Amino acid sequence: MILIDGKKVAAEMKQEIAAKVLELKEKGGKTPHLAAVLVGHDGGSETYVAYKIKDCEAVGFKSSLVRYEDDVTEEELLSKVQELNEDTDIDGFIVQLPLPGHISEQKVIEAIDPKKDVDGFHPENVGRMVIGLPSFVSATPFGIVELLKRYNIETNGKNCVIVGRSNIVGRPLSVLLSQKAINATVTVAHSRTQNLEEVCRNADILVAAIGVPEFVKKNMVKEGAVVIDVGTTRVKSDQTKSGWKLKGDVLFDEVASKCSYITPVPGGVGPMTRVSLLHNTLLAATGKIY
Ligand code: NAP
Repeated sequence: MILIDGKKVAAEMKQEIAAKVLELKEKGGKTPHLAAVLVGHDGGSETYVAYKIKDCEAVGFKSSLVRYEDDVTEEELLSKVQELNEDTDIDGFIVQLPLPGHISEQKVIEAIDPKKDVDGFHPENVGRMVIGLPSFVSATPFGIVELLKRYNIETNGKNCVIVGRSNIVGRPLSVLLSQKAINATVTVAHSRTQNLEEVCRNADILVAAIGVPEFVKKNMVKEGAVVIDVGTTRVKSDQTKSGWKLKGDVLFDEVASKCSYITPVPGGVGPMTRVSLLHNTLLAATGKIY
């Protein structure tokens, strides 16, 4: 069994990005600039945005943080989005989700200029990805594909089962894996899938993006399969200083010995998601998509 080290691959990608930023600056080019909009004080969102800012510093990007309290109106937020769309110094920006219930996330996503949509959530980018045009691809699916590539994992003609059909993970990943350059035969499973255990056992590559800790057990995995665990659920723990730890969707200790490759949680897909946002920001700054 080979443990897929997302932390190591992400560190390599960060170095590659930092080298490109340096080259850009040496040629007199502009410093890539990522902005993040954070509404409220949700613990998870605070952590993710802090990571994003730290990652920008690490590769030499400029970053900006725009903060609002929970009671910001939809109108105010949309007007900030418009301002960021028009700000020529900002190459890309994200609005950290989830947003409070009184704000339509879809409206906000659709208000972002697709050329600055480094999260890849705008329908224009999703549509372009589906038909194989250059687009910003959302971070987690992009990161997973990059992991498969960098570990030289064969995807041609392989049966790939993705459990989970969300707009940010399962669905876009299914599109990427079925593209001509990758050539997997893809099944997307979800909460209504019948005989899920059997469907999963048929997978050469099994991706779990469910959000149910340790859902995937040994009896759901084929001998020699590649298992990608996207799940990250915070569970209480008395073994950590913070009082919680992250659990994946795969019962790692039981499943790992059956796999040819497996990602751990933490240290698998998570770091790749982080670095993929930097990748998209560099693409935005260098005009490589539009
Ligand atoms: P989501 O929007 O809640 O979607 C979950 C999907 O899992 C849905 O399609 C749902 O099916 C399916 N599902 C739920 N219970 C199931 C069951 N018992 N059997 C089969 N399918 C089931 O979640 P998400 O945003 O995609 O995130 C999934 C997990 O990945 C979460 O733990 C999240 O924190 C994590 N995540 C990690 C990263 C990272 O960088 N590592 C990034 C993004 C997300 P239905 O559609 O039928 O409801």
